[in-house]
Amino acid sequence: MIPAIFPIRLRISMAYVILGERAVLVDTGSEGEEERILRGLRRYNVEPERVALLLHTHGHTDHAGSTRALRERLRVPAAVHAADAAKMRAGDSGALIPLRFSSRVVSLIINPRFPAAEPDLLVEEGFSLGEFGIPAAVVHTPGHTPGSISILFDDGRAIAGDLMMGGSLGGAYHRVRPGYHYFAEDLTELRRSIRKLLDRGAKTIYVGHGGPLEAGRVRERFAPDFRAI
Ligand SMILES: [Zn+2]
Ligand SMILES: [Zn+2]
Repeated sequence: MIPAIFPIRLRISMAYVILGERAVLVDTGSEGEEERILRGLRRYNVEPERVALLLHTHGHTDHAGSTRALRERLRVPAAVHAADAAKMRAGDSGALIPLRFSSRVVSLIINPRFPAAEPDLLVEEGFSLGEFGIPAAVVHTPGHTPGSISILFDDGRAIAGDLMMGGSLGGAYHRVRPGYHYFAEDLTELRRSIRKLLDRGAKTIYVGHGGPLEAGRVRERFAPDFRAI
């Protein structure tokens, strides 16, 4: 069985349900979106009891905002990369370092704080989802934040969080056009991570805002910038 990736569109970000033998919820949106996510699960006929893990692409307010509430509701472990664990523990996204002028505008309307949640499990490069019947593993793709990860499936699908973004205004327009996210803590590392994910064989990339993105277009968009790294 090929596991499905079901997108759940939230106020400003996307969460994804991966359905294998068990289900893994990737990201939890912003604060107060737990009901919306549970409704999303039901819409895809995934009983909440099937969810075995809350896996975070990174520790930002729009990806870990409802983690505390969902962890209590579903009684499943929350996992994040060690380098972003402090953000979740503190309920604080930390520095949102803008890449361009419009990012500064966005940073004014985003509240970096969210309900703190204690991570139960720290994941790193190579962490396998095999035990859930999902042929996929974690690839460490830092840059947006130090603990940003992607989930790469054996068949080339990937969920990459905010490694890149689809379209403009957080995916409201031109959803499938790849571009930089508004923020990156380390731009050189971010570019290396994009190249790493492509070199590992990512073909269809699901992202935290907009998407999904096709690898050919992603390479076309970013390859000129790989020269700088
Ligand atoms: Zn982010
Ligand atoms: Zn985001």
